Amino acid sequence: MSSKIPITVAHGDGIGPEIMNATLQILEAAGAALDIETIEIGEKVYLRGNSAGIEPSAWDSLLRTKVFLKAPITTPQGGGFKSLNVTTRKTLGQYANVRPCVSYDPFIDTKHPNMDVVIVRENEEDLYAGIEYQLTPEVTSCIKLISRPGSEKIVRYAFEYARLHNRKKVTCFMKDNIMKMTDGLFHKVFDEIAKQYPDIQNEAWIVDIGAAKMADTPEAFDVIVMPNLYGDILSDVAAQIAGSVGLAGSANIGEKCAMFEAIHGSAPRRAGQNLANPSGLLLGSVLMLVHINLPETAERVHNAWLRTIEDGVHTYDIFTEGVSTQKVGTKEFAAAVVARLGQKPNILKPVKYAKRPEGAAAAPAAHQMTADHTKMELIGIDVFVYWPSRNPNALAEAVGKFAGNGLSLQMIDNRGVKVWPAGRAETFCTDSFRCRFVAEGATDMAACLGVLQQVAAAGIEIASTQALRTFDGAPGFTLAQGQ
Ligand code: NAD
Repeated sequence: MSSKIPITVAHGDGIGPEIMNATLQILEAAGAALDIETIEIGEKVYLRGNSAGIEPSAWDSLLRTKVFLKAPITTPQGGGFKSLNVTTRKTLGQYANVRPCVSYDPFIDTKHPNMDVVIVRENEEDLYAGIEYQLTPEVTSCIKLISRPGSEKIVRYAFEYARLHNRKKVTCFMKDNIMKMTDGLFHKVFDEIAKQYPDIQNEAWIVDIGAAKMADTPEAFDVIVMPNLYGDILSDVAAQIAGSVGLAGSANIGEKCAMFEAIHGSAPRRAGQNLANPSGLLLGSVLMLVHINLPETAERVHNAWLRTIEDGVHTYDIFTEGVSTQKVGTKEFAAAVVARLGQKPNILKPVKYAKRPEGAAAAPAAHQMTADHTKMELIGIDVFVYWPSRNPNALAEAVGKFAGNGLSLQMIDNRGVKVWPAGRAETFCTDSFRCRFVAEGATDMAACLGVLQQVAAAGIEIASTQALRTFDGAPGFTLAQGQ
C-alpha cells in the first residue's frame, strides 16, 4: 500500500500552469510523498457555462483528498460568474484563512526589515455572510453575523497554530467599543480560549488603532486573529508592507478540506513566457506540507527557497540591481531551489516546523455549545418602517396607539440615533425608522404580531422586524444612541 498522501491539484489559468509545474517539480525533488489527482477549474470551465468555475466531479476529488493545491485562475469579465474562492471556501467550510507576512530584508525591499506576522482571518461569517437588503428607497443594510462556534473555531485555530509554530503571542483585533454584541462576542470568546493557552501571551486591540500600529510597527505582533472584514483588509495591508505581495502564500483551512494557494492572481499578460515568480504558490505548498503533517519536507523546501532568495537568484518582479545576482525565469528559479534542497539560509532566519502530535486535529472543531440551557425570553419587537415624511413625532403619533397586549412604544430611532421621545431637530433623518415596542416583562409572539398587524393595516410599510429577547436575563440587543 502506498504511504503517499493524496492531494488535489488545479493548474489554473494564465501563469498558473507554469508556477504549478515549478512548484510540483520542487516538491517532488524534495521527496514529498504526494499522490496527485488533477482537476480542471477556472476560465475554461466558466466559459463552458458553469457559473461556479468548477465541475461537479471535481468536488468528489476535493472531498476524497481533503487537500487542495490551487494555482490562480482567471475570472472572465462580465456578470454571472461566481468567485471560485468564495464557493470552495463556503461549500467546504474553510473557516480559517491563514496568511504569513514576512519581510526578507535586505534581499527584498521593505520598510519593515523584521516583520514576521501571521494573519488568521475568520472566513465564513461577519458581514461576508452576504445577507443584504434594501429596506427603503434610501436605506440599505448588511447583516453582520458573528457566532459563538464560529468565533471559537477561529480563535482556537489561532492558538493551536501559535503553539505548533512556536509563536509567542496571539493578538485579537476587533471593535467591541462600537459593536458590543458581535465583536463583543468575538472578544469574549477570545478571552475564554486564551485562558486555555497559558503558554502563549494574548492581547486585544481595537482594530483601528491596532491596524495603525501594525502598519507602523509590525514587529510588535506575532499571530493576529480577526473577524472576516478586518482580516480581508488587513491581510492585504500586511502582505504589502512586508514588501512581498508576490511572494505570499495562503491557506484556507476547514475540517472537511483545506485549500492552499498564492495570494496573487493569474497575471495573464505574463503567461507562457517563463517569467512568472512561483514563490507565492511554493510558499502556499509549504503551508500545505505542514498541514498534512510533513514538517521535514516543508522545512527542506522553505529553507532551500530562502537560500535561493538570499543568493540573489530572482525573477524579474523582485530583481533589484545591486542586490540580485541573477535574473532568472520560472524554470531556472525552480532549478535553483532544487539545487539548494538540503541547504539553509545564512543571513535570513532558517525555518523550523514541528510535527503535529499524534491525534491532534489539523483544523480544530468547535466544542458543543451549551446553548440549549440558555433561557430565552421574548420582551418585545423592533419594527423598521418606511416613513417618507421623516417626522418622528408624527410617526410616534401614528404607531404609538397600536401598542397593546402589554406592549408599548418605547422609542423611535433613525440609523441608530434616538429621535423620539425627546429627539433633537438637528438629527438628520432618512426615510427608514425603527420603532421599538417592549413589554413590562415577558411577552409572546402573538402580542408582537398583533402590533405588526395594526401597523400594516394602517398602511405603514414595514421594512423588517427583529424580535427583542433576553438571554439568561441579559438583553440580546443594544440601546439606540441617546436612549
Ligand atoms: P494579478 O495578481 O494577476 O497581477 C497583478 C500584477 O502582479 C501584474 O502586473 C502581474 O504581472 C504581477 N504578478 C502577479 N503574480 C506574479 C508572479 N507570480 N510573478 C510575477 N509577476 C506577477 O492581479 P490582476 O491582474 O488584478 O488579476 C488577473 C486575474 O487574476 C483576474 O482574472 C483575477 O480575477 C484573477 N485573480 C485570481 C486570484 C486567485 O485565483 N486566487 C486572485 C487574484 C486575482
